[in-house]
Amino acid sequence: MTRTLAALLGTAIAASTLTAAQAQELNLYSSRHYDTDERLYSDFTELTGITINRIEGNADELIARMEAEGENSPADVFLTVDTVRLARAASLGLLQSVESAVLEARIPAYLQDDDNQWFAFSQRARILFYDKTDVENPPLTYQDLASPEYAGQICIRSSTNVYTQNITAALIAHLGADAVADWAEAVVGNFARAPQGGDTDQLRGIASGECDIAMSNTYYYARAFRRGDDQMTPEQLENIGWVFPNQNDIGAHMNISGGGVATHAPNRDNAIAFLEYLASDQAQEYFSAGNDEYPAVPGVALSPSVAHLGIFRPDTIDLSDIAENVDAAVEVLNGAGWE
Ligand code: FE
Repeated sequence: MTRTLAALLGTAIAASTLTAAQAQELNLYSSRHYDTDERLYSDFTELTGITINRIEGNADELIARMEAEGENSPADVFLTVDTVRLARAASLGLLQSVESAVLEARIPAYLQDDDNQWFAFSQRARILFYDKTDVENPPLTYQDLASPEYAGQICIRSSTNVYTQNITAALIAHLGADAVADWAEAVVGNFARAPQGGDTDQLRGIASGECDIAMSNTYYYARAFRRGDDQMTPEQLENIGWVFPNQNDIGAHMNISGGGVATHAPNRDNAIAFLEYLASDQAQEYFSAGNDEYPAVPGVALSPSVAHLGIFRPDTIDLSDIAENVDAAVEVLNGAGWE
């Protein structure tokens, strides 16, 4: 950590000596939808003296804005959720390659874009939850969701959601598009209801009895466990069990939050310093403590709510392989009639 922060401060000082007129600023385009991120930003400013100007919006809006602004875009860093969106920003030419010894050393290779245009800073497992009072034999793999045994039991998000697209793309990378097309069709046949709502709504579906099995990112459950949920009683929460799927083969699917430096970043050095800060132990611990996510950097401590979920084997497929299959995933989902 000392070494990382020293490197970080070194970068910041180098930036400040470039020209006295250059403002110590950073324009951050962020679609991370967590108000707890506030601390990440204030800690960075305290550490480096670099002020963060935050432009928040949903990822598609921010991407459209950067495209429209073109060369004149003030964006330095684009921070968002999910490989699907980072890959889209990169393919539109909105991100630049970054050479950083800190990022190379801290972030595992499979959590970086092949061209270093984006990096993952936190991870979440997309796993299966079930009603412990109703389901004796919960599905143990993603493939199991296609079993006739679970007819009318599954609640899951829509095909327009990036989490759904991301896991489908990962399954295509592992199993091939034909196998996943058959899988998607069978899963649609097992739906308890038409896809609706966010991840927490899938968990609430189990609590209300509408769903027996649901798919959700771990941090939604960990957050409800940590601070309660106004639509689920403690007893209902207690009756929700979970399975980290595919522990004997590919591992549990992980999706990520990450970011990169904008192509026309006016404050490029500050942008790189910010990404390096996000990879520091301090920021990595905060992703776990503040938003119940898994750190991207190996060996960083987990918060109690995240540790509560238990040890598991994650899928460590290269995120670039997922990004390559996103278009195929959307096609497969549409073909299966997945709303
Ligand atoms: Fe989310």
